Order: sequence, then structure tokens, then C-alpha cells
Amino acid sequence: MTSTAGSARPLLNRRLAEFGTTIFAEMSALAVTTGAINLGQGFPDTDGPEPVREAAVRALRDGRGNQYPPGPGVPELRTAIARHQLDHYALTYDPDLEVLVTAGATEAIAASLLALVEPGDEVIALEPYYDSYAASIAMAGGTRVPVTLRPSEGRFRLDLDELRDAITPRTRLLLLNTPHNPTGTVLTRAELTEIARLAVEHDLLVVTDEVYEHLVFDDAEHIPLASFPGMRERTISIGSAGKTFSFTGWKVGWVTSTPELVAAVRSAKQYLTYVASGPFQYAIAEALALPASFFADFRADMRAKRDLLSAGLTAAGFDVYRPAGTYFVTTDIRPLGESDGFAFCRALPERAGVVAIPNAVFYDHREAGAPFVRFAFCKRMGALEEAIERLSKLRK
Ligand SMILES: *Cc1c(COP(=O)(O)O)cnc(C)c1O
Repeated sequence: MTSTAGSARPLLNRRLAEFGTTIFAEMSALAVTTGAINLGQGFPDTDGPEPVREAAVRALRDGRGNQYPPGPGVPELRTAIARHQLDHYALTYDPDLEVLVTAGATEAIAASLLALVEPGDEVIALEPYYDSYAASIAMAGGTRVPVTLRPSEGRFRLDLDELRDAITPRTRLLLLNTPHNPTGTVLTRAELTEIARLAVEHDLLVVTDEVYEHLVFDDAEHIPLASFPGMRERTISIGSAGKTFSFTGWKVGWVTSTPELVAAVRSAKQYLTYVASGPFQYAIAEALALPASFFADFRADMRAKRDLLSAGLTAAGFDVYRPAGTYFVTTDIRPLGESDGFAFCRALPERAGVVAIPNAVFYDHREAGAPFVRFAFCKRMGALEEAIERLSKLRK
């Protein structure tokens, strides 16, 4: 840790001291220096639909969104978000009072926590968790309470007793994520029913990160937590165009909730970015109105990639947790005679020319995540085939 001259005091404050650097930066740098295929960070290596890109160009040329858009987001996009929630989930939201556009899901998460958490409040999050959760809870002064998803019968499962035991009088909020990054788990109707019951019983707020809502495979179904009895009035639902339309660089996300909760989140959001992504907001309004066939094709394409990479990883000797959703597959490296995911991932670019992420970075209980490694399959088929070919060497 760097100190200011003549002072023992570290530059980075205590709240953020543990978040100095991310593994993604280290691994992506390794990918560049070694020429490895980067299956680490979760971004697609092809852009989203051409008509949506063209809609952004049109907005730029027509001077829509080049100056500060309205604080809550442009009306066209708020209307499209409300329409999307209605068409896909039969959830009704008032575009003027119950929808807020944010700078990606990341800002929606940060603003929600900054708005709703008092220092000392406990926030329960499913572990392993998306890396920004821990930092956002810390910036809000909250205390994170991880509830660990544990592998059983080919899937990472939520232990509902463990969740129940984690709730204390200090618990303010549940921070959920389904479909779940990095494990690929999609919470079932039975699990969500019990989560909802606990939230109502203990009068908890719930922030649900549903950025992978359109990436569920086979029999899995994404059911928004807000659709369960008693939940709409206590749930902040978060979506993002980055994952749904493969434009992660545009940073268009959103919140849907009650007028009171949306107003609270907006209070924090307006002093983070105020507004963002002006012309892209108009383009995403058009994207959300794409026909059902777009979403079906996107899902089918990702399912084929999941199947290809899962089969390749199995053939290479990994134990594979076949994901029901998201674009990540979590593996267990122990069948390869390895047990430390960090060491394995640091060596993998040299050894096999592929970059992956050790799941331990997503855990407070690092030992619980030690043997698990995450690979992203949101990449071109050719890149996945080449990665599989390279990984097949591990077995020899
Ligand atoms: C990618 C991701 C985000 C961030 O979404 P942005 O819209 O890019 O900010 C949030 N949550 C999860 C689980 C993600 O995987």
C-alpha cells in the first residue's frame, strides 16, 4: 500500500482497502502478454444487433441524447422498460415514477446500497458474489453477510436454513442475483418462494440483480422476485442492456420498483453520474422492443456455446457444473490433481494458452471457493473451439 510522503497513513481509505486491484485486470494483462484466449472477463467478443447499433448512430446524428438527458432517463427508454416488464413478466410499472435508468447495473447496485443502507446495517449476499457487491456494501458502510451456495448434485444450491440463520435484527437488505454469476445457478420457484416469505416475515428490502434474465437454458425459468406475493413493494429489480443485447460498453442499466424506492435510489444516483449514455438510451429503447424471436435466438446461440464449452471442459478433465443460466461455466479443478484455483489460473496462460478466473475471488470464505474456476462462453465459436483444443493438453 502506498503512503503519502512522511505519513504512515495509507492513501486508500479503510472502507476500500481490501479492494485495491481486481483479478480481471491481472488476468486480462496476462492474456495480452501471453497471447492466451481470454475466457476470463464476461464480455462478448461480437457486438449486439446491427439495427440497435444503427439506432444509436441515428440518435447521435439527430442530436438526441448528446446533451444531459433527463435525470430518470429518457421517456422513450423508461416506457420501453415498463413495457418489457409487462410483456415478459406481467409486472406493471409506471414509467414516470417506477423506472430509473442508470449507468449500467453497476451504478444501480451502488446507488441502491448507498441510498438504503445505514452504516452498521447488515446486507446478506449470496456467495460467491459479483465483485462489485462487496465494494458497494463497503462504500455504503454496511456489513456484508455472505450465504454460501454449495455444490450438490451438479448445481450450486442455496441452503434456505443457512439463509434463515443469517437474518438478524440488523439485517436491512437481501442482495440477490439470479441467474447467478459465477455459478450459473438459476433460483427455482420453490427457492424464491421461501426467500420471499423470509423477506416479508422480517420486513427486509431486496435488491435483485437480474442482468442475465434472458439467458436461461433448457427447463430453467427466470422468475422475477418482484412477482411473488408481498414482494413488489419491497423489491428493487435491476436489469442491464449490456448482457441482454451484448453492448457492455454502453452502460445502460435500470431499476424498477415502487415510487418511494425509485426516488430513494435516484437521490444517490443523481450524485454519482447524474446521467449517462444519452444516445444509447434511445437505441436500447428500440432494442427492448425487438420481437420475441430475438431473445429466443440469443438464448439458443448461448446455449450452443454453453454446450460446446461444457463438453470441451469435461473432455479436458474438469468437473463441470453445467450452468442453467448466464454465460459462465464453473468447473472444479480437483480431477486434474489441482486444488488452488488462484495458482491454477495464474499458470494456465503459460500452460495452455487460456485465461480463466478463480472463483475464490468471489468469496469471503476463500477456502470454500478454492477449487473452482470460471470460464466465460460468450465468445465466437472459433475462439471456444481453439480454447478447447488448447485445454485438451491438460490431460496429457
Ligand atoms: C456484468 C454484471 C453486472 C454489471 O452490469 P453493467 O450493466 O455492465 O454495469 C452486474 N451484475 C452481474 C451479476 C453481472 O454479471
